[in-house]
Amino acid sequence: MSSSVVTRFAPSPTGYLHIGGARTALFNWLYARRFGGRMLLRIEDTDRERSTQGAIDAILDGMRWLGLDWDGDVIYQYARADRHREAAESLLASGHAYRCYATPEELTAMREAARAEGRPLRYDGRWRDRDPSEAPAGVKPVIRLRAPLDGETVVEDGVQGRVVWQNKDLDDLVLLRSDGNPTYMLAVVVDDHDMGVTQVIRGDDHLTNAARQRQIFDALGWEAPAMAHIPLIHGADGAKLSKRHGALGVDAYRDLGYLPAALRNYLVRLGWSHGDQEVFSTDEMVAAFDLKSIGRSPARFDFAKLENLNGLYIRGAADADLVAAIDAVLPALGPERGIAHPMSPDLRDKLTAAMPGLKERGKTLVDLLDSAYYLTAARPLALDEKARGLLGPEARERLAAILPALEALPDWNAATTEGAVRAFAESASVKLGQIAQPLRAALTGRATSPPVFDVMAVLGRDECLGRLRDQIGG
Ligand code: GLU
Repeated sequence: MSSSVVTRFAPSPTGYLHIGGARTALFNWLYARRFGGRMLLRIEDTDRERSTQGAIDAILDGMRWLGLDWDGDVIYQYARADRHREAAESLLASGHAYRCYATPEELTAMREAARAEGRPLRYDGRWRDRDPSEAPAGVKPVIRLRAPLDGETVVEDGVQGRVVWQNKDLDDLVLLRSDGNPTYMLAVVVDDHDMGVTQVIRGDDHLTNAARQRQIFDALGWEAPAMAHIPLIHGADGAKLSKRHGALGVDAYRDLGYLPAALRNYLVRLGWSHGDQEVFSTDEMVAAFDLKSIGRSPARFDFAKLENLNGLYIRGAADADLVAAIDAVLPALGPERGIAHPMSPDLRDKLTAAMPGLKERGKTLVDLLDSAYYLTAARPLALDEKARGLLGPEARERLAAILPALEALPDWNAATTEGAVRAFAESASVKLGQIAQPLRAALTGRATSPPVFDVMAVLGRDECLGRLRDQIGG
């Protein structure tokens, strides 16, 4: 038997790829890469009513965007139902399972009795040892696991440590429903086995399932994979993660202007640590990732930390890569800003030229795009309130006064425009800011922007002079 590591990410396609799922996928991916193994992707689509193609697409897109590639073809759980049924039949044949003919009424009565006595519902095993010849006519049976009655079921969990269940507390779970459909619990076990999974890494909301699954593995005589159940993510206030806290789909993070590398870096630190290191390249995280450094208490989602990390990645990214990343989010962000996707070659050039100034101040691609407003704005510029405040009558007069000096410049670049503006400020005995701020307002429509002489260089002579004349004339 090969000893190479196989992990899997097994999302249920009932919604988008949310942030907790993305972290689970990342941990599985890192673990597989760390040990030279493979990460498989299994779509758990057995719930036919809640599984949708839209959700499957969102999960695959989200993983691709995050750079979490899986090995081999996507495995669809529902397509393997025959194989799951076959496993249930084999358990019947080996005596590890039995047909149960308890009627819905009987099960309801069992549930009510349990409730009245204040104990959890457990199937009482009434068909466990009954002769099948006693089967009532017309009742379609379910197949149940003949679970051990005493002793313990133990999971040595890579994160939670040794977790022990008393078998007397675990009842005979259903493997195959009366309509012949396998249960989720059976499907997971058969799939994990057939896929050769050696290490399960998933949220600790599945910890109790692990006991059930362990019993099925044992009954089938299969070796169970190692298990690691990671604490769920909580909001900054310690409460369960909700939308308000950031429980959004990965696609929402993309449209908020986060870079995949920054989100990966943020997610890896959500529950896992490596000394006090906060910033990890992908290679660094692969080299350092392990299960024993996953904490046992829930990690807290912190938007401010994600933003800061994203700002760091933006400042470190190549200008052309940022322009490409902006272009990729234009389908979502462009329409309200009047920018088409893909962006025009002219805008691409201007954005690339402006990027050194833009990226120093933005934490997200949305910030960059908003600070780049001046590149795409049409004349005459719509000024925001602060910019209007900077362009009072006196300021407009100053702009009118400096215009001839700018018009006369033989070369137009950041250095020459700066020289002209400084010379003018000196001769007029005004501070540089008193002329630079109105210039900025007239050229960008905003009170803050990248350095104004960079703006002038990027916009070019004609556009700058045009925008200044628009304000002087008005
Ligand atoms: N399909 C389950 C989920 O989305 C995961 C099951 C597993 O990892 O075993 O929560």
